[in-house]
Amino acid sequence: MSGKILIVDSVSTNRIVLRVKMLAARYEVDAVASCAEAASRIAMSQPDLVLINLTDAQGEGHAFCRGLRADVATANIAIISVGVLDTATARFSALDAGADDVLPRPISDTLLLARVRSLMRRRNMSRELQMRDGTNRNFGFEEASALLITPARITLLSDAPTAAAALSADLRAGLGQSIRVITSDDALIDASDVGKTDLFMIDATVGGFRARQLFRLVADLRARQSTRLATQMVLLPSQQTEAAAMLLDLGADDVILGSVGTQELVLRAKALVRHKMDQDRLRDSLRDGLHAAITDPLTGLYNRRYAETHLRHIAKQARAVGREYALMMIDIDHFKRINDGFGHAAGDMVLRGLADRLKQNFRPEDLVARIGGEEFLIAMPQTSLSEAKAAAQRLRRLVNVRPFSIGENRQDLHVTISVGVALDRLNCGMIENLDDLFKRADAALYCAKANGRDAISISQSAA
Ligand code: GH3
Ligand code: MG
Ligand code: MG
Repeated sequence: MSGKILIVDSVSTNRIVLRVKMLAARYEVDAVASCAEAASRIAMSQPDLVLINLTDAQGEGHAFCRGLRADVATANIAIISVGVLDTATARFSALDAGADDVLPRPISDTLLLARVRSLMRRRNMSRELQMRDGTNRNFGFEEASALLITPARITLLSDAPTAAAALSADLRAGLGQSIRVITSDDALIDASDVGKTDLFMIDATVGGFRARQLFRLVADLRARQSTRLATQMVLLPSQQTEAAAMLLDLGADDVILGSVGTQELVLRAKALVRHKMDQDRLRDSLRDGLHAAITDPLTGLYNRRYAETHLRHIAKQARAVGREYALMMIDIDHFKRINDGFGHAAGDMVLRGLADRLKQNFRPEDLVARIGGEEFLIAMPQTSLSEAKAAAQRLRRLVNVRPFSIGENRQDLHVTISVGVALDRLNCGMIENLDDLFKRADAALYCAKANGRDAISISQSAA
């Protein structure tokens, strides 16, 4: 088990007991007696999780937790308050200071370890996303308040309609937004847009939930494609410590034992939603980044970098299935004249117009890319020479017969293209490398230009 834990407790026996437990679970452990010491340890080397005693409501611990949360560098360290007076006020102030969970004494080892595992897992996932994102952007804090303006999609799962109505009304008042209420059966059959949920609150304190049914529900929501990224909070009757630990291990993000009051529920719900939205934003930015890296911004087609990589897949696949594939190089004729005569913006419109026609006229399995200024490439898997020839002719006409719009109040422009075609014939005994295929398609294109443009040419060599 990997992960670094820092214990902060002024009572030395508490530190020793906790340290032994965490070491037994194979965590790396450090323990200090004061927040000042903790701060200097954290400055030197960051723990993944802090176990802090917040029993003294007036103590420095709360300010210390707030400090961690407010600093971008430490905002994502998980915090469990071990030891807190078991009153609504004490729990609330610990959570409000930034603790992810509060565990009043006596602490159940099973629950504590499940909590630690769950928070470690969450931290590892965040870290992986952040690392992949490759930026040290602050995700979370400046935008935290703005985040909650976007209403989160919260679904209350309950099999007791009357209790559900009361709880959802309380939550609605506390969170300032509507809550959808569904039954556990609805959730399992993916009814009513269950997949669009940010937070599932599962109320198992009423409605006769059985432990096994609950375990299945949590695991199922966590595993299913449409709901696996949603956060989950489970409300359990008090004393159900073992079930709570199991639920955390199965994928619940927060488990609350016994009645804690709406104020605490709202606070916990907000923390879970904020975390979920941080993760979503990070994931979106990753996706955008990946998308930007492989697409051409002007036309939305794949760029050269992507085309080269994808072509290698097409070539490999062709060999695997023993079917030849075709490569077409396309170059707009006298494109410079379009720019010179009608302006660069008009040239751009022609490029976009051509890209649209290409997108609409090829099969989903064909690769269509812009590989240079006015040069495009199309790779067609499982295509014979005659099919490739027909496709090239069809393409030439697709451009030639219908002029291109270059803006309102301007006459459409007649544009032509030249196309060079080369076929990777797999049955000729020699394995042709991609560079050679490219060269042959390029040479064919040159030929089409030399033949007067608005023409296609087929490479015959290596065939
Ligand atoms: P040919 O028939 O021999 O292909 O002649 P051509 O004028 O099309 O070829 P040339 O390579 O001389 O000119 C290509 C022009 O494409 C030159 C360059 O300014 C222009 N170009 C390259 N990228 C872009 C772009 O993104 N937008 C616009 N508007 N023009 C571009
Ligand atoms: Mg060119
Ligand atoms: Mg050209």
